[in-house]
Amino acid sequence: MAKDNNYIVFARKYRPMDFDDLVGQEALVKTLSNAMNNNRLAHAYLLTGIRGVGKTTSARIMAKGLNCIGADGKGGITIKPCGQCSHCKSIMEGRNIDVIEIDAASNTSVDNVREIIEGTKYTPVSARFKIYIIDEVHMLSKSAFNAILKTLEEPPSHVKFIFATTEVKKIPITVLSRCQRFDLKRLTIENMVKHLSNLASKEGVEIDEDALNILATLSEGSARDGVSLLDQAVSHSNGVKITAETIKKMIGIADRTETTSLFNHMMSGDIAKALKNIEAQYQSGVEPYLILNDLLEITHLVTRAKVGCELDKAMLSENLIKSVTDFAKDLNMSALTLVWQMLIKGVSEVDRSPYPFKSLEMLLVRICYGSFIPDFNEFVKKKSSVEQNDTATSNVRGFDKQKLNPEIVEAVKEVAKSPLLSDKEPIVKVVLGNNENAPSGSIKTAFDIYRMAEKAKDSILAYNIKTHLKVIAINSNVIKIANNEKTDSLRSLLPLKIKEWCGEDYVVEVIEDVKVAKSIAENHASGKDFFKKIAMENEIVKAVLDNFEIKGIEANLIPKKDEDDEMRDENMFLLSEKFNEMIDE
Ligand SMILES: [Zn+2]
Repeated sequence: MAKDNNYIVFARKYRPMDFDDLVGQEALVKTLSNAMNNNRLAHAYLLTGIRGVGKTTSARIMAKGLNCIGADGKGGITIKPCGQCSHCKSIMEGRNIDVIEIDAASNTSVDNVREIIEGTKYTPVSARFKIYIIDEVHMLSKSAFNAILKTLEEPPSHVKFIFATTEVKKIPITVLSRCQRFDLKRLTIENMVKHLSNLASKEGVEIDEDALNILATLSEGSARDGVSLLDQAVSHSNGVKITAETIKKMIGIADRTETTSLFNHMMSGDIAKALKNIEAQYQSGVEPYLILNDLLEITHLVTRAKVGCELDKAMLSENLIKSVTDFAKDLNMSALTLVWQMLIKGVSEVDRSPYPFKSLEMLLVRICYGSFIPDFNEFVKKKSSVEQNDTATSNVRGFDKQKLNPEIVEAVKEVAKSPLLSDKEPIVKVVLGNNENAPSGSIKTAFDIYRMAEKAKDSILAYNIKTHLKVIAINSNVIKIANNEKTDSLRSLLPLKIKEWCGEDYVVEVIEDVKVAKSIAENHASGKDFFKKIAMENEIVKAVLDNFEIKGIEANLIPKKDEDDEMRDENMFLLSEKFNEMIDE
């Protein structure tokens, strides 16, 4: 459609004239028509909802309905204003003397409100009611609200207020309680598609289903945004049929199917394909941060699906729901939460980087390794129960041994066969107090003890814990530690100190002849080595290194230690602890 001099933007051209035109607000229409039919009209109405959902339009249609006299001049209050009478016409054109529209955003003061209140004393000039439509009413000042409240308490019978707001929480409860409230709903994808496809056919524009779906998703339930996007798409298409491609070019958005396949490559550790995917997206004009946002969104969706949350069928396309459900079945929780953390961390990295796209590439390379990590909770659970045979590793969910270093697979098998460390008998037992103050589980790992010492500013003890304390297991109130030259002082000191730090009674048991236990410091060091080792041994990494001629890549493959980032440190510790368990056994 070529633009000519009479071109009117769609949003104005197709502004709903009555409630039949208003899409997706059946609840509002039903309640309002009941009130009108039963003559139970409130003096004040409050319309809430996101921007562009039809609040002001609804207010005008309500004003028409309240003042309509019908084409023959004999009609009464109606849910279906005629659109023909002088009142209907002048209200829609915004020039009816008895319908006063005020934008509270620019009229917030108490003086503005006094003006309104003064006006309510006079009867309407020609219409049935004097109607005040106050848009963005939450912007009024507190004193302005107080002034209006007096009128709301004893409103003259010829006055109606229609308030509209995007932020209902900012409206005083005293005002809220005197209004009949209508919450305008976001349009569902289905409704939006129907609405836009209607408009397109009215315009004689051809548009395919995929394109409509993308527009509907982008508009996030706002009818006005949806219509404006369609308007843009029509100008973009130059009279050719509008396809998903047209829209993508217009908006520069990442396609969901591209995102789902990128997510797939990333989670199956296929770096080459993942990098190819983002390269293509980048070339087509998608900004790195948008690609990252899409990955975050899908990781979030899959994680929600994994824990059994219902997916929002109204706001997600069928294809996306199917992909997300499949991912949730195939992926384990450890991998999902780890990837989420790495992506979140990546947001600021990509944001701060002078080379955002390269940073995104490096982030993906890093994550592709993270996704090889087996589900440790499952792994530990299986460890004690699994049969001593070759299927030990393949029984573990989310554990694809094809993708793992054979050395690790062997190590895992060994661990699966061995008895649990914590089953060994203690040689020394230190008990403090009685068992009345049973601990509520403040301490779960050596790291928790270390952190308590740090927090208490006991830096010498913290140092000793970090370098010498080798925790084997912590079961309810028993901390089992390995015997070494420093154990003597720690085993008597720890229960006292822990009691002091968190008020809980713990028992420290020292176990002899355990060489596998490592201190936090040792775990940290060997964990880094381990990450580096698997990264450097992997053939895909080699290929990446050869192709990209990047030096020093190993530094980027390992999560960097960040002084402020306790979470990172702790995760690093937990991961390396688990890896070491596997290797050392
Ligand atoms: Zn009328």
